[in-house]
Amino acid sequence: MPRVVAAVFCFCLLLTGQERIDSDVNARIRKEAMENSKILRTIHNLTDVYGPRLTGSPQFKAASEWAAGQMREWGLANVHLETWDFGRDGWSNERTAAFLTAPMKHTLVAEALAWTPGTNGTVSGACVQLVPPERPTQEEFTAWLESQKERVRGKLALAGKHTAVPVSFTPLMLRMDDTLVQRRYDPKNPAPAGPPFGPMRPSEAKPEAGRLTPQQIGEQLDRFLKENGALVRINDSARPLGQVRALQNRAYDVSKAPPTLVLRNEDFGRIARLLGDGLAVEMEVQIVNRTHPEGRTACNVVAEIPGADKQEEVVLLGGHLDSWHAATGATDDASGVAVMMEAARILKAIGVEPRRTIRVALWGGEEQGLLGSQAYVKEHFGTAESPKPEFARLVGYFNIDAGTGRARGLSVFGPPEAAAVLRQIVEPFADIGVAGAVATRSRRLGGSDHTSFAVAGLPGIGVNQDPIEYFAATWHTNLDTYERIVEDDVKKSAMVVASAAYHLAMREQMLPRFAPSEMPPAASAAKPPAPAKP
Ligand SMILES: [Zn+2]
Repeated sequence: MPRVVAAVFCFCLLLTGQERIDSDVNARIRKEAMENSKILRTIHNLTDVYGPRLTGSPQFKAASEWAAGQMREWGLANVHLETWDFGRDGWSNERTAAFLTAPMKHTLVAEALAWTPGTNGTVSGACVQLVPPERPTQEEFTAWLESQKERVRGKLALAGKHTAVPVSFTPLMLRMDDTLVQRRYDPKNPAPAGPPFGPMRPSEAKPEAGRLTPQQIGEQLDRFLKENGALVRINDSARPLGQVRALQNRAYDVSKAPPTLVLRNEDFGRIARLLGDGLAVEMEVQIVNRTHPEGRTACNVVAEIPGADKQEEVVLLGGHLDSWHAATGATDDASGVAVMMEAARILKAIGVEPRRTIRVALWGGEEQGLLGSQAYVKEHFGTAESPKPEFARLVGYFNIDAGTGRARGLSVFGPPEAAAVLRQIVEPFADIGVAGAVATRSRRLGGSDHTSFAVAGLPGIGVNQDPIEYFAATWHTNLDTYERIVEDDVKKSAMVVASAAYHLAMREQMLPRFAPSEMPPAASAAKPPAPAKP
């Protein structure tokens, strides 16, 4: 190109902020992603072979080592596990069996609550239902507990009222409709985030002065049941269609809780109704749980494609390797982990040489509060207010953690210019429904691991996805298995992430960031983090 023309051309590039898109590389990425995919094999290993992957459990450790070995086999460099302190023993469940034995015999569907003890062998006894007063004061609750003392010894205690889960007449939204998603990513006037772009959560009841919170009631009920010889505590899953969402006892200490089951809503309801008829209901339960002191040291798995002339600068890709324990954690978040591993594999396989380092980090401890990613950010980057040298060298962190659904857009912590860059980089994937990118100024922790970066003032990039069955069925439930993966969607997400990572690794400049004077203030430490995360 003649020099004068070249000069004019470059000037135009600067004016319009036009990104240089390598359509040849994009074509090779698409081909590798669709024709030589290893992504289902990765998800199979993470779920069927190593799941569930509860942080601190032996399976989590084994999955970490497997992922590291697999990435080494694909030719990634500097593959290693970075440890961090989980601060509590690991826990795993080996066996849960629950039966109705009177007034008729039947098998029940239940999961153990994590970080609770197992039963002392097989236990059996009568069921009682304990329905505490609503929003009690401490005085009222203590009096109520006192009145229940004689009821619980040697019994299996249903905790609380049965939740009526109505039949839903609303069809499930599996994909975001195109007009909706375009409004969400409208560069001029983006529609606010929130459902259907994020989880629908019940707003947590505000604590009322003088009244106990549900957490305080739960803790006191645990202590009461233990002290008064109840055999098992039984919680209502309160979900439709046999879904059981069993998370953890908040104390993370098996010595502080009775053996605890989460029973599917339908079985809880049946027992509650039979008890309401005045019938004697009996159950038999066996729960085998283990604790793992070695699980106090948890890890993240890290691997990379080293960069060339800008090797010190890093484009980071991640998802969380840990899962809940009631299923094999396929959509939460083996699919996200597999997308990021696959994106790196694709780039390695097509033989590109990125200028910057592309690094994959698979987190532990996400489900217990984004622990692995926060530990990594603290160790490597610090914060905008107290940065370490690596702080300036992180281009961006891509996170995927909302199920099997295809990538539909990006949300980046940064100025509008950062979204403008990403919007152009993903534009070649408009044909598969990628609608663009928006910027956010939020430094609140919550959602998923990209917020650990945003909290620190770093460009965390959330990949927003089609909802498919995630919040409706698989998220944190016993239904989160390999069968719920949509092959075409995970392949396409990997394709989009591979291309976006590559282009960020190649452009002349870093992704635009907030200037120090424009950095939004860190979220107040007084505010608690947002509840429940994907
Ligand atoms: Zn998740």
